[in-house]
Amino acid sequence: MNQPPTLTIIVPVYNEEGGLAELYARVSAVMLGAGVDYELLLVNDGSSDRSLERMLDLHARDPRVSILDLSRNYGHQLAITAGLDYARGQAVAVMDADLQDPPEVLLLMLDRWREGFDVVYGVRHRRAAESAFKLGTAWVFYRAVRLLTSIDLPVDTGDFRLLSRRAVVAMRQLREQNRFVRGMVRWIGFRQTGVLYERQARFEGHTKYPLIRMVRLAADAVLSFSIVPLRLAIVSGMVFAAACMSYALYAVYLKFTYGQVVPGWASLMVAILFVGAVQLVCLGILGEYVGRIYDEVRGRPLYLVGDVKQAGAGLTGDASEPENTGR
Ligand code: UDP
Ligand code: MG
Repeated sequence: MNQPPTLTIIVPVYNEEGGLAELYARVSAVMLGAGVDYELLLVNDGSSDRSLERMLDLHARDPRVSILDLSRNYGHQLAITAGLDYARGQAVAVMDADLQDPPEVLLLMLDRWREGFDVVYGVRHRRAAESAFKLGTAWVFYRAVRLLTSIDLPVDTGDFRLLSRRAVVAMRQLREQNRFVRGMVRWIGFRQTGVLYERQARFEGHTKYPLIRMVRLAADAVLSFSIVPLRLAIVSGMVFAAACMSYALYAVYLKFTYGQVVPGWASLMVAILFVGAVQLVCLGILGEYVGRIYDEVRGRPLYLVGDVKQAGAGLTGDASEPENTGR
């Protein structure tokens, strides 16, 4: 297997011990059935269960299974990034470990890739058996990101997608720390298209994207792709300045026309505290950007790799590209 495979399937894995065997079985059935030469690249994102042992078993049984073992848990987006750095295929797909994205769809994606598309993303046209809460937060997420950033993100697309070789090479050049992979994929351009599919229920286990992680991902999406929040800070400042000015003029008018003084300790306090709060919010927005600059300036590697088990690793130029540094 020194020859790069046609397709690398990257699967980020975080505590998925119960689903890996089924994942392997489904993927191999589909790929072997269609006669695709593939590599299944399992990225262990610091699982604390027996996921890594399960992976090693699979690797021992089948040389098509490669393992990239990260030094700790870095999160879904970085696990995907690490996978992209080590993927050797001419086409590279990213898929969840929980079989929510059916492997059969990869064949449709491969067809579009053969037609000459560089990015083929999966669009969820129906989601079977996900909670109303998950659907609701996801709905708000996609719309908010679209509204607040200039990236034209197709709604209802996750990270289930297939990239051509040159798209992967392009992705490897983007080394930002706070990553929103689907936005970055949109940013690289080339020819992109979507395929519709139905998102399944999780095969096993539970979601690792609780609300707090969704919010963080949305913040990364907005803050790393736009400065709209900074503009909002300016605009809100101007609006409040205008409001205060009108009220001041009104108070002066009352004084000189009717000799009245606007009464009110309460209104004064409200105005002061309100302006103070708005200032703190604006400072917070600024702080978010400064924090991101700090992340970049430190220049740390994106991730560290514990171990790589890949058939023919190091034999192809770019597979072992930035070994062990993630930069
Ligand atoms: N995942 C990961 N690192 C994390 C969290 C999740 O590698 O810190 C993996 C997880 O194992 C799964 C994929 O990312 O393969 C998507 O996670 P999940 O299915 O929990 O998200 P959802 O589909 O619910 O949005
Ligand atoms: Mg999932």
